[in-house]
Amino acid sequence: MNVVIIGTGYVGLVTGACLAEMGAKVVCVDSDKAKIDLLRAGEIPIFEPGLKEIVTANVEKDQLSFEVGLSASAPSADIVFIAVGTPTDQVTGDIDTSYVKDAVSELATLLDGYTVIVSKSTVPIGTGDQISSVIESFSGGADFDVVSNPEFLREGSAVFDFMNPSRIVLGVESSRAENLLRELYDPLCPAAPVLVMDIKSAELTKYAANAFLATKVSFINEIAALCDSVGADVECVAHGMGLDDRIGPRFLKPGPGVGGSCFPKDTRALVNIAKDHGVEARIVTAVIEVNRRQKTRMVKKVEFALGGRMDGKRVGVLGLTFKPNTDDMREAPSLAILSALADAGVQVKAHDPEGMDEARPLLPKSIIYCSDMYDVFDDADAVVVITEWDIYKHLDFSRAKGRMRTRTLIDMRNVYRRDTIESLGFQYFGVGR
Ligand code: NAD
Repeated sequence: MNVVIIGTGYVGLVTGACLAEMGAKVVCVDSDKAKIDLLRAGEIPIFEPGLKEIVTANVEKDQLSFEVGLSASAPSADIVFIAVGTPTDQVTGDIDTSYVKDAVSELATLLDGYTVIVSKSTVPIGTGDQISSVIESFSGGADFDVVSNPEFLREGSAVFDFMNPSRIVLGVESSRAENLLRELYDPLCPAAPVLVMDIKSAELTKYAANAFLATKVSFINEIAALCDSVGADVECVAHGMGLDDRIGPRFLKPGPGVGGSCFPKDTRALVNIAKDHGVEARIVTAVIEVNRRQKTRMVKKVEFALGGRMDGKRVGVLGLTFKPNTDDMREAPSLAILSALADAGVQVKAHDPEGMDEARPLLPKSIIYCSDMYDVFDDADAVVVITEWDIYKHLDFSRAKGRMRTRTLIDMRNVYRRDTIESLGFQYFGVGR
């Protein structure tokens, strides 16, 4: 089967590589020539575990290739996936679907024979209909169907998630398109149920799922704030809640707030979509506010740990990306936290195993970046763990402590045991502990 993927970012490149691995002949297309040049040279523009291996293997097998424009690949495609970005429009706060519309307009004039156009991007409800209208008006009678197939992979384990999905959601209103998609996904289907529904329900499923997960995290962060005030331990509370299988333990992990390219943008989008349709999304609105305040709480926590004065203090930071195993800095909590620390006159030294190049243009110029994680401890009044990379879990604190001015550890991910850290002479501050 000939598959074209438009947009070769976190979702598009993983989708393309995995579908090639499953036997499809895939062309990944991107408007960013530098990205395509890099891929053609055998480099991977993003950090995603396991991705390089399957990209390289499938390029070698001639199953996967890369193009800048659609003209060479679209006419012979059986299925075209749209996997371009759908960021928040900075002016209106709505989702900016212009990348989807541009991609579809380019595609419309190139279709030749029956083609299924699949939206993998997370798009506002009704976008499927808009894609159909654009194709109809630009193509002059193309034979096509539009499908919504939202993606649920997580950065950091994207290849595994794509190959082992919990479900495959197909918003599809034609049996011809459904059959083609079922054939494409067949290698994954013994394990994953295929849920067939109308296009709008599929589009909304993605927003509802992300908003619910963000709600769970924000809920436990609110409980963590209460734990800090009453002297309870949120880890015990979360454990006690999570063993109830109506609740479940996952996403009950307190931290510095949710970030990344999906949860913040998708919760904002859901609130706006609901408002446009006369519905007040009060829970999701509260989630956005709780998440904003969580970052402010983290800055206050640092201020408290520093004895109430931040100006002139030195703080080491471990972890910048919004989660481990990615280089993605989009809406990472570290952005708000480090900016506030720098504004308050704190001198910050930071380390991240993969995210420092991405972080540099987004963070205040005063931040110093360390290639050795132990260097953030030098002369520090406190060290803050913002992202729980595995290498930080195995830090040798007895080696690090001698380099600090004051032994204070602020563990925003509750990675360490308080008693272990305190026995090394540190003051320990967790979240809700
Ligand atoms: P991304 O920003 O990493 O990649 C998007 C790519 O599309 C970029 O390389 C860009 O150059 C390219 N592009 C834009 N317009 C184009 C055009 N007209 N033609 C060709 N290429 C074009 O985005 P992403 O993180 O992969 O997200 C893509 C979509 O998937 C979004 O809607 C997002 O919400 C959704 N999604 C993302 C994730 C995730 O974890 N990143 C998970 C599930 C769903």
